[in-house]
Amino acid sequence: PGDAVHASWLELSASALRHNVAVFRALEGREGTARAVGVVLKGNAYGHGLAQVLPLVHGQVDVLYFIAPQDALKVREHERAHGLPPKQVLVLGAVAPQEAVVLAREGVDVVVADRSWADAVPVLRAAKLERPLRVHVHIDTGLGREGFTLDGLPRESHFLVEARDVLEVVGALSHFANTEDVTEQGYALAQLDAFETGLAFLESQLKSAKPLQRHIAASAATLVLPKARYEALRVGISLYGLWPSPETRLSARLVLGEVPVLKPVLTWKCRSQVVKWLPAGSYVGYGCTYRCPEPTRIAVLPVGYYDGYPRLASGKAHVLVNGRRCPVLGRVMMNHLIVDVTRAAHDERPVTATLLGRDGEESVSAESLAGWAQTIHYEVVTRLGAHLKRVVV
Ligand code: PLP
Repeated sequence: PGDAVHASWLELSASALRHNVAVFRALEGREGTARAVGVVLKGNAYGHGLAQVLPLVHGQVDVLYFIAPQDALKVREHERAHGLPPKQVLVLGAVAPQEAVVLAREGVDVVVADRSWADAVPVLRAAKLERPLRVHVHIDTGLGREGFTLDGLPRESHFLVEARDVLEVVGALSHFANTEDVTEQGYALAQLDAFETGLAFLESQLKSAKPLQRHIAASAATLVLPKARYEALRVGISLYGLWPSPETRLSARLVLGEVPVLKPVLTWKCRSQVVKWLPAGSYVGYGCTYRCPEPTRIAVLPVGYYDGYPRLASGKAHVLVNGRRCPVLGRVMMNHLIVDVTRAAHDERPVTATLLGRDGEESVSAESLAGWAQTIHYEVVTRLGAHLKRVVV
């Protein structure tokens, strides 16, 4: 956006998103099975912006997963506003009994992960629903997070049998402990075994007429553990064109015989606030942690840790200006970054900096920024401020 002189903005590539979805469709085709391609839009669509990503993916995928009920309801609003047929929508996170009533009326699926759901049963009955709430039972197969453990499942999920009038079990799920890296396949396979055991129990207990929709595969398992794909995928990070980890990429070559191309969807850019020369010996930024060894042309960028640029990247990161790497000098501040543009700029006119993404031959990946900040790319993208302007390109 040319008008936003002092702001940073995110550019989202519609074609990259389409491409990534096509990669998952092609994986499905490999085994000749019809499988739902589901994508995870939690965390403001992994920081990319739910308002922008939802319209782009709605027509291309089969299931949309969220954490928060209010985000799931945005799908129904979007469908009503555009006259679209409803997609399967699933809330992975906690739901209060009153929210459950709203979700049932809107035809949104929920996850029953513990016995606190028994409290919702009388509330759902009192609401006199036209149809029961569709639920998926979460089995904790070794992550130690939400879900019934195999131990607890018989005791704690029994209320579902008596609550059939309001809770219709349509699916079952679990989540791998090593989502970033399923190269630790021994543990993943043990989780799959536990999942099968839990499924067999649920099927015997519920005796449902229809088979359960089973889903356990996040990005890594989708890409490198074909056995785990079942009826629905639950792809998060790779929808946005990022590999869960370098190890998953290596495993993909072994498992698929080739490495699918994933295209990063996001570019983060800003216009400089000021470009100016500092004499040799000048200090830069809070704490005077950097001193210019020679006359240095700096660009002050209106981006800081408030916007999601990690402070821990201070002194290590670079941004791109005119296709060149420009080191971040001194500390990352709340609303500012100072970069060295001595060689990248030709004068003191404003410059456009790329904080994440490609500029000419150079690129800064979310993985690089995460590495400089001693974190993971999941955290880098999901922390991009909700206030940042997002444009689809
Ligand atoms: N399923 C669940 C339950 C999750 O919590 C997540 C993400 O954390 C995903 C799927 C997607 O994982 P990924 O982003 O590694 O694809």
